[in-house]
Amino acid sequence: MKHYLAAAFNLSGPLPDESSEDLTEFFNQFVEKTQESKKEGEFAITNINADGNQLSFVIASVNSVPPHVALLRIRKQLAEAIGKKYRVGLRGFEFRKYTIETEIEQEPLKEFTLPLTKKIEFSKKEDKFYAKIEIDPEIPEDFVEKGTIERIVRRVNDKAAKQHYGAKKEHHEIVWSSGEKELFTDQNPTTLMQEANWIQRTNYRNQWILSPTITTLAEAMKQIMVDYIYKPLGYDQMMIPKLVDWSIWLRSEHAEGIYQGGFEPYFVVQPKEPTPEYFEEIADYITITKTIPTEKLAEKVTAPIGGLSYAQCPPFWAWLQGKTLAKSSLPIKIYDWSGPTYRYEAGSAYGFERVDELHRIETLFIGSPKQAKKAGTAVRDKMRIIFNEVLDLEVREAQVMPWWLQQSASEQKMDKETDLVGTIDYEAYMPYRGTREESEWLEIQNVSIIGTKYPKGFSVKAEGNVELWSGCCGGSFERFLTAFISQKGLDQKNWPEPFLKYIDKLPETIKFH
Ligand code: ATP
Ligand code: MG
Ligand code: ZN
Repeated sequence: MKHYLAAAFNLSGPLPDESSEDLTEFFNQFVEKTQESKKEGEFAITNINADGNQLSFVIASVNSVPPHVALLRIRKQLAEAIGKKYRVGLRGFEFRKYTIETEIEQEPLKEFTLPLTKKIEFSKKEDKFYAKIEIDPEIPEDFVEKGTIERIVRRVNDKAAKQHYGAKKEHHEIVWSSGEKELFTDQNPTTLMQEANWIQRTNYRNQWILSPTITTLAEAMKQIMVDYIYKPLGYDQMMIPKLVDWSIWLRSEHAEGIYQGGFEPYFVVQPKEPTPEYFEEIADYITITKTIPTEKLAEKVTAPIGGLSYAQCPPFWAWLQGKTLAKSSLPIKIYDWSGPTYRYEAGSAYGFERVDELHRIETLFIGSPKQAKKAGTAVRDKMRIIFNEVLDLEVREAQVMPWWLQQSASEQKMDKETDLVGTIDYEAYMPYRGTREESEWLEIQNVSIIGTKYPKGFSVKAEGNVELWSGCCGGSFERFLTAFISQKGLDQKNWPEPFLKYIDKLPETIKFH
């Protein structure tokens, strides 16, 4: 890697002329020490110039200490050296120009820029690819201190690689199948349920009102999960918060994937001032016009402070954050269905299988790698029984590349953990969509063994420094029931006995005149 940094320290006052020898000596020593510590590479500091309240210099390095790292070290040492002797303090630094030339793994398919960079140029020399990154000189000091430059360099490499990766088809391999089942309809299940008054669209996009009838079926599904999974495997229920602030999505790394194809949250804002006076004009306006002045309202609320529950388990981790778990408490096994999950499903209106307000059951396990693997396998076995035997659904298991592995785009990591860490999707055949071979099956549930990602992200440890892994599984009632109705129809006489056992009597639907 090749770096060039022209920068300056801001001083509390001018340095006296007689300091110039000391400065030369200081920088020479710094360069010498750096070269000694790094046997290879080149490192030089030139153009040292004290002028008024600024001390400017140029650091150039090739395969050696990056200049911004050197600058932070110099700042500390120099502050001591000149502070005492000349009573001049260092008041931070400014960049004038910073360029970083680095080799990247793949040639980008198209150019791109990044925040906090001025320019990124790509080139190719003898089958090798290079990026020349010019850092925005306005980059805040604390970002330089906290690793932003390193992450810019990494992001350039990953973004170029991802352009190739994105063009490839997502990894999807069928690893188990229930085989063909008896199907009783080839109608669109959403239409069937709408016509029967089991579900009704609201005024809001992809949101539905669930009648007593469909709620009874959801309740039955819930009870089946309890009886087949949670009771025998020893899972406890808990209530995970459903409003998620940024600190959580930062740690879970969801924030990094915001609207990048895997995380499409609803945002939450707060009133800037929660007082009657502040909102009085809005209240008056609504009262006299019977309309909502949304633009005006937008001025009175904050920027998003986070959003609504998206993947259910991230806010759970705030509970364990920074703690060390007792060995006797492992593995932790919990489930949650205490509230809806929200996703902004882009595109046109969808049926009941793709809603913006969904009702998911989340299964979560945490333990040693061995415990996590065992828990994940056990849940997977039970899921098969529920879908295949209780609901008698035509389903298959697909091994897919989960977004959290995809996002990191790190092939190395994949190779190492791939046989243990990963996601199994359950997919149901939807006859109304076409043939088994050609139509798109519906994902109804996933089972994921996630590895160290969450314990690391939330700084959770285990007694005796045992490595901690976690895994989670999510499936929505909307998907279970859409899949079920699309294969079995509305007529209960065609429904499997083990499922019917969980339904006393379906409530009468409300009839409209
Ligand atoms: P898809 O690719 O179909 O959008 P996904 O990959 O976004 O699914 P996950 O994030 O893996 O889904 O969520 C796990 C489960 O949550 C899904 O298997 C499904 O049961 C449920 N789910 C996700 N999005 C929706 C939705 N919009 N409506 C109903 N259920 C959903
Ligand atoms: Mg989705
Ligand atoms: Zn989860």
